[in-house]
Amino acid sequence: MPTDDTDTVPGQLAFDVEAPRAVVDTPLPLVEPIDRATAHKQRLIGVVRRYADRSPRSQQTTLGASEIGTPCDRQLALKAVGAPTSTLPRDKWAAAVGTAVHAYLEKAFLADNARAEAEQDWDGGGWLTERAVDVGAGIGGTADLYEDRTVTDHKIVGDDTLAKVRACTCRPDDDACPHISTTYKVQAQLYGRGFVLAGWPVEQVAIAFWPRGNGAVLSKLHVWMDDYRPDVADRAIDRWQSILAAVLELDVEHHLDRAGLFATADAPCAWCPYFGPDRTGGSCTGHRPT
Ligand code: SF4
Ligand SMILES: [Zn+2]
Repeated sequence: MPTDDTDTVPGQLAFDVEAPRAVVDTPLPLVEPIDRATAHKQRLIGVVRRYADRSPRSQQTTLGASEIGTPCDRQLALKAVGAPTSTLPRDKWAAAVGTAVHAYLEKAFLADNARAEAEQDWDGGGWLTERAVDVGAGIGGTADLYEDRTVTDHKIVGDDTLAKVRACTCRPDDDACPHISTTYKVQAQLYGRGFVLAGWPVEQVAIAFWPRGNGAVLSKLHVWMDDYRPDVADRAIDRWQSILAAVLELDVEHHLDRAGLFATADAPCAWCPYFGPDRTGGSCTGHRPT
């Protein structure tokens, strides 16, 4: 929702002297002559960078269920008007690992369907993987997994996130829980809503945190679960529609500085597509704690 942000200047959003830091990609040093291993390294990284830049996620412009639960109103306002995204050279490796593991997991669950069928160990519909869902209000997404009234979303996480989620002893419906991202929780509930709207029964939603950090072993998989709670999805959609209405009323599309009137949160800013910490390279200079 709009707030009174008095530090906003035309064409720029609020400046934060202690702005969060972006996770940037480090250019390789251009030192000549380079040895052949370094030259080969540059070619290998170049291929991955170019591939990551062309990935559907990098080019996504419509609002997805993975974004709507962000605690930052300004991020949604900027998304609503298609604001310029950051020109910071972001490191894409974590996203690449996440994409690759998602693809592997899909193969694993489809293979389990085939195994169950071959062994006549078939107790129902099997696993549904990578299903496009429509959650209403122009919001869509691709749900990772559904089986037996349970929607599961995969997250491939590093050590810090894994330690945080494993430390959680909060009730699943505790909105003040500092361990599990609200964005993730809302996303899971929105996927639940998408399946219900498509005619599938849903009773629970889950987030599977698969490890990718130091000492990553399968037994460190952490699963968070909650009842399917349609009120969470409804509230998220209502909030999005309120922000959209405010964006239209303020004509943010033609007055981008007015996005500075929307409340912020560290969503986190380091990964926000609009984050430009030094007044350049992005549409927002980051959340400033009060
Ligand atoms: S940079 Fe931070 S404060 Fe700005 S829109 Fe993104 S998440 Fe919100
Ligand atoms: Zn918690």
